Amino acid sequence: MSESIKNTEFKKSSCILCSINCGLDIKTGGIDGRELIKIKGDRDNPSSKGYICNKAARLNHYQMGADRISSPMRRKADGTYEVVDWDTAIREVAAGLNEVKQQHGGDKILFLGGGGQGNHLGGVFSDGLQKTLGIKYRSNALAQEKTGEFWVNGKMFGGGPHGDFENAEVAVFLGKNPWQSHGFPQTRKILKEIAKDPERCMIVLDPCVTDTAKISDFHLQVKPGTDAWALSAMIAVIIQEKLFDQQFIANHTEGFEDIRSHFENLSITEYSKISHLDEEVVRKVARRITAAGSVSIFEDLGTQQNINSTLVSYLQRILWVITGNFAKKGTANIGVPLMGLTDLGKGKISSKDKTKFKKVTPVLGSKIISGLMPCNEIAEEINSDHPNHFRAAIIESSNPVHSYAESSKMREAMRSLEFSVVVDVAMTETAREASYVLPAASSYEKHECVFFQVDFPKNTFQLRHPIVEPLAGTLIEAEIHTRLIEQLGGLKKAHVKLLKTTAKISRKVFALAFLALLAIKPKLIKIAPSLLYRTLGTTLNNGASAAAPFWALCHQFVRNNPLSAAKAGFSGSRWKAGEKMFNTLMNSPSGFIFSDSGTDYSDSWNRMGRANKRIKLHIEELFPQACNLDINLLSDSKEFPFILTAGQRRGETANTIIRDASWDKKSKIASLYMHSKDAEKLELLSGDNVRITTKSGTAQTYVEVNDIQQPGFISLPNGIGIDYVDEDGDQVRIGIAPNDLTSNQDKDFFAGTPWHKYVRAKIEKVRKKVA
Ligand code: SF4
Repeated sequence: MSESIKNTEFKKSSCILCSINCGLDIKTGGIDGRELIKIKGDRDNPSSKGYICNKAARLNHYQMGADRISSPMRRKADGTYEVVDWDTAIREVAAGLNEVKQQHGGDKILFLGGGGQGNHLGGVFSDGLQKTLGIKYRSNALAQEKTGEFWVNGKMFGGGPHGDFENAEVAVFLGKNPWQSHGFPQTRKILKEIAKDPERCMIVLDPCVTDTAKISDFHLQVKPGTDAWALSAMIAVIIQEKLFDQQFIANHTEGFEDIRSHFENLSITEYSKISHLDEEVVRKVARRITAAGSVSIFEDLGTQQNINSTLVSYLQRILWVITGNFAKKGTANIGVPLMGLTDLGKGKISSKDKTKFKKVTPVLGSKIISGLMPCNEIAEEINSDHPNHFRAAIIESSNPVHSYAESSKMREAMRSLEFSVVVDVAMTETAREASYVLPAASSYEKHECVFFQVDFPKNTFQLRHPIVEPLAGTLIEAEIHTRLIEQLGGLKKAHVKLLKTTAKISRKVFALAFLALLAIKPKLIKIAPSLLYRTLGTTLNNGASAAAPFWALCHQFVRNNPLSAAKAGFSGSRWKAGEKMFNTLMNSPSGFIFSDSGTDYSDSWNRMGRANKRIKLHIEELFPQACNLDINLLSDSKEFPFILTAGQRRGETANTIIRDASWDKKSKIASLYMHSKDAEKLELLSGDNVRITTKSGTAQTYVEVNDIQQPGFISLPNGIGIDYVDEDGDQVRIGIAPNDLTSNQDKDFFAGTPWHKYVRAKIEKVRKKVA
C-alpha cells in the first residue's frame, strides 16, 4: 500500500451516486483494507460542506461488488469467457478495432459511455482513442434525458443556465423530486429552508405526491404527460394578465411578439382541464411567480422522459425569461465548467470533416444533439442492413443493455456486432455480450473527478485521490486507452521520451517543448491527454499521472476566464495563474473553488453564446408544435389501461453502479406503487403479486398500495433489476429491470429521448409468489 493511502485514517473523497457528488470522509479497512467501512460528510468540501444523504452509506456495495472483474476476458465461441493477460487483450482489442476500421471505416465504430456519475476522468482519455480510430459517432446517458434541454439552451442562450436554489425566492420543480434525486448542493437543507420561510415559496409540478411535493406551498398534481399544457396555461396567465417583465423583454430578448398571440388566445380553462389542474390554482401559481424577486426552475426526468419533453424544456424557459429571471441572484445563471461535460469523448470531427459530417445518425437520420446520438435508436443503428450501420463498439462505464429502452433489442444489437469491447469495473449485462471485457479500477482506487460544474457565482472542482489500492488485475482507464493508442501506433516513443526528459527539468521547459512539438506535429493534439499522461504525468506525486491533462485545462481556463479565475485567487501572469490553479487542484483533496464571479451576476450575459446577447424566445423548430399540442398522445387504451413510470427515484434507489442489492435486508425496494382505488378494483393488497404487461414485455413483482400515484398510474423504482452474484455464488436479481418493459419506439419527436415515465401497461393479479 502506498504511503499516502496508508497514513491517513479518514480519507477525502466523494459520493458517486448522484450528480451532486457530496464530499466524503471515508474510513477504509475490512477485507484486505479495501472496504469503505465508515462514511461521513466532508466539512472541508467547498460545495457540500459536510452534507450527505442516506444513500452514501451503501457505497461499499459498489466498491466490493461481487461481480467486479479482475482480469481481461475474451469471449469464446460458446458465449463463455476466458481470462487473458493484459498484453494479449490490448493487442487483440486494438487488432479487432483496427480491422473494422480498415474494412469499413472508423465511422462504423460506435463509442458509448465515457464516465458514470462520478467517474469522468476516463472520458478525457477515451477521446484520444476515438480520434486515433477515426470514430465519429457516440452517445452516453445524457442522451437518455438531457439532449432536448441542451438543444433548447443552445438555441435560446448559446449556453447552459442553471437555477440558484439557495437564493431563489420561488423554487419551481418540474417532474423533479429533489428530496430524493437532489440536483443542487445540500439539497435537503435548502428545501427545508425554503419550506420554513414564509417569504419564500416552493412550487412542484408533479403527478406524484413526492417527498418534495409534501413540503411544497403549491403542488400542481398534473395528469402524467400533460406538463406542456400546464406550462402553456401558466404562460398564458402571465401574458393575458400582462404580468410579464416588459423592460427585461425589451432589453434582453427577441421574438416576444412572435409568441405572444398564441398565449393571448389560448384557453386557460381548457389547458388547465387537460392537465387535471384547478384553473384558479394555475392562475395563483403564475401570479406568485411574477410577483417574486427571483425564481429558479429545475426540470428533470419526470418531464424529460415523458411526452413532449423538448417542448417542456422550451416552455418552462419562456416562463422564466418573460418574467425576467436570468442573470440575477436567485435566478438562472451560466457558470463555466473546467471542462464541458459534453466535450468528453468528442471523437473525431475535424474542421475538414465538419463540412461533410451531417449532424444526423447514419442509418435513421435522427438528430445528433451535443454530439450525442439518441440512445433509443442505437439498437436500430447497429442491427440494420443499411450500408452505414455500425460494425463495432467501444463501451466504457456504461451499461446500455440494462439502461436503454427495450433491453432485448440492445442485447440483440450487441450480439450482431462484428467486434465489441467493454471497459468497466463489473461484469455488467452489456459486458456479458462483448467480445472483450477490460476491467477498470473502481472510483475509489484511482484519481477521479466529475465535470458536473454548473454552479454560479462560485464553481468548485475536486480531484479525488485514491483511498484504497486498485483491485489486483485492474487498470485505470487512462492506462487502458493509452495502451490501446500506443498499440494502434498513435503515440510515438520518441515524442514521449523527449517530453519526459523536459518534464524532469521543469514545467516551464516542459511547456515550451510540448507547445513546440504540437506546432511541428499538430495532429498530436488529438491524443494530448495520453501524451501528457505518459510524460508530465510521471512527475506528479502519489501516482497522479492521470491528472496530467488538468495542467493544460487549468492554463486554458485562466486564459479564457481571467476575471472569474482571479476572483477565485488565480491571478498574476497567465503562466503563474495557471500553475497556481493546477497546484491547488493537485493539493486540494476536498476540492477547491476555481471560478468566482463575486456578486456580478451580469457575467451570465457575457457567457451567452449568442452574438447579440439576446435570449431567443421564438424557436422556429419548436414553436409550431407548442401551438399544436397533440392531445391524441394521451388517449386511453383499453388493452393497456395503466400508465407506468418505469424507473422512479425513491428513498432507497440511486443509480445502477451499486449492482449488489444485498443491502436491502427487508426486500422492500422492488414494489409497484399503486393507488388504493386501483388496488380495490383489482382486489389487491400490499404484498400481493402482479404481472405487469406492456407492448414490449412482461414481468412480475409485488404491489405496495399507497396514494403517492394518481389512480390509473403506477410506478416501479429505478436502479434495480440488476443481476449480481450473491454470497453463495448464485446469480440473483432483485426487482424488475425497467427496460424489460419499455419500447424504443416511444420517444420524443424532437430529441428522441425515451418515454420511460409514460409506459402503457396492464396489471393482473397472480397467485404465484414472485421469485
Ligand atoms: S446520493 Fe447525492 S446527495 Fe446523497 S450523498 Fe450521494 S452525492 Fe450526496
